[in-house]
Amino acid sequence: MATLVCRPGDPQALKAATAAAAAGASLAVLPLAEAAQWKKLLADSSNAAAGRQLFLVLPDGSALTDPNAIARYLGGALPPQLNLAVESWIEWEEAALRPAVYGGSSDALAAAVQRVKDGLAGGKRFLAGSGSQPSLADLVVYATLSPLAGSPSVAAVQPWLDALAAEPAVVAAAEQVALGASASDAAGAFLADADAARAAAPKLPIPGQRNILITSALPYVNNVPHLGNIIGCVLSADVYARFARARGYNVVYVCGTDEYGTATETKALEEGLTCQQICDKYHAIHKAIYEWFDIGFDKFGRTPTRAQTQIGQDIFRTLQQRGCLVEQTMEQLYSEPLGKFLADRFVIGTCPKCKYEDARGDQCDACGSLLNPTELINPKCKLTGSTPVVKQTKHVFLDLPKLSDDLQAYIDRTSTLGGWSSNCVQVTKAWMEQGLKVRCITRDLKWGTPVPLEGYEDKRLTGKAKSG
Ligand SMILES: [Zn+2]
Repeated sequence: MATLVCRPGDPQALKAATAAAAAGASLAVLPLAEAAQWKKLLADSSNAAAGRQLFLVLPDGSALTDPNAIARYLGGALPPQLNLAVESWIEWEEAALRPAVYGGSSDALAAAVQRVKDGLAGGKRFLAGSGSQPSLADLVVYATLSPLAGSPSVAAVQPWLDALAAEPAVVAAAEQVALGASASDAAGAFLADADAARAAAPKLPIPGQRNILITSALPYVNNVPHLGNIIGCVLSADVYARFARARGYNVVYVCGTDEYGTATETKALEEGLTCQQICDKYHAIHKAIYEWFDIGFDKFGRTPTRAQTQIGQDIFRTLQQRGCLVEQTMEQLYSEPLGKFLADRFVIGTCPKCKYEDARGDQCDACGSLLNPTELINPKCKLTGSTPVVKQTKHVFLDLPKLSDDLQAYIDRTSTLGGWSSNCVQVTKAWMEQGLKVRCITRDLKWGTPVPLEGYEDKRLTGKAKSG
């Protein structure tokens, strides 16, 4: 006998139990909370049933997890069989009805209810089949609509819902999956699933409404966040997101871990892990901490996505086509044992200014001078202790000087028009008076967005190339 493991009153469990009862298949039902013997199954993430709230354990020990697959398995003997109408209703239930019922979109739900009403037009008793018994399609559609029975949203099909609720198979199944819980307790499974569905549904701009996109600076994925990350980064955006939601605006608050770049490779070397392992580890830590603080992201993602690569490379190609990029060769320290260029902080040596012996490649802690690693006297690789060699490396730079005149004209126009603060005007003026310099947008890295340019196979785009 197959065993259905479920939460009390779950409508998707009702679907399975109704199919079994109507088809005369025997079925045991076990509450998820008491499914001790399936604990191992639930803990094994390679198993399809892991983490599921509903699954059917078959006599051979394998499991089905898809609610409609379970219903088909248990209700397979129900007439009419191999019927196109039955199949298309079951597919529609999964593709359209369930997202509408659980996702909470009232327009989609109204359209779905209308579709059921149309399916019953002409005084038909059931959606599919012609017998006196409901088809599997009726049972599948009924189960998903059942939590809404009696509410105005399903009034148009209430007589059909009432008739099915009175079917002996449905009565027996409802009692079986209630597992002794009261009807109000049992609603919990549906409400929890509906919450999860709403949280997972993509949020899109709504025409004619105030749509607000909020983001906070993406935290690097090379550390455990501290209170400063919360206060200085994600909290202020969260407060604004909550304010805007309370005002009824359509808000999307997006953030995620910034996973590409030198910082990740550096951390991976330090911890003896791969870059991917570092990112997986610290992404999980960041996510858990922000969840603990109840930061209300609509999405907390990760930067290595196909879309991110496409957008980054697109920007690069556009800049190249417009002649905004220049190539320059620079000298950098290279570690032969490691086979890679060294990040500044991995080089130590003697400060050329004050002769302090433990100066870092980017700064001397004794005299505070900002340094280039190639300036250090007697430089050493911090990781291997070997002496790095100076190697030439070609990089792509953003030709900012070329844009100076255009930028100055833009600043003159918008600083007045946009009412910039005097502080902002002064800082901008100081930058422009210094003169803009070319800005390097590639790095000698393997972990990151590939540079779409020949000869740059071992280099990656910097974060600034994409955000700047
Ligand atoms: Zn110094």
